[in-house]
Amino acid sequence: MSLEHLWAGWRREYIVEATARERAGGISHDQADCVFCRLAASGAPSEDNLVVWRGEKAFVVLNAYPYASGHVLVLPLRHVGALADLTAEESAEVWAATQTAVAAMGAAYEPDGLNMGANLGRAAGAGLPAHLHLHVLPRWSGDTNFMTAVAETRVMPETLQLSWKRLTDAWPR
Ligand SMILES: [Zn+2]
Repeated sequence: MSLEHLWAGWRREYIVEATARERAGGISHDQADCVFCRLAASGAPSEDNLVVWRGEKAFVVLNAYPYASGHVLVLPLRHVGALADLTAEESAEVWAATQTAVAAMGAAYEPDGLNMGANLGRAAGAGLPAHLHLHVLPRWSGDTNFMTAVAETRVMPETLQLSWKRLTDAWPR
């Protein structure tokens, strides 16, 4: 699978919610309707909220619709959509958390490589453009055919709870 293909795949994140909202009259930019804001307010990291790490300005959560085991999102706690609207403190913590997520993923999964990136805006493929989020996911040599094969069915080799435990155990303290 090419990177372009993978990026396109990320359009599918939270597709159910996005579709439901569009039917209800358009994507809401309201914080009250934001699934990421609900996660941000869901308290300490746990197997239930699938939050792996929570800081002062940012947090890391498993993607509920992963493209590979261990696929996480790194987000500001605050409801902000535009990269330019992050404060310096938010930007620094989002980036530091991304670095740490890459390190934890490396320790937990020993992947051959990783993809990280963000879809900014709906036209670029963001399912929830109103709340900025970075994707980080592990890749393996030869996983392209596998990824293509499972893209439609989302057959994952481990549960989100097991991914949460592996990343949490590997998270640097
Ligand atoms: Zn939000």
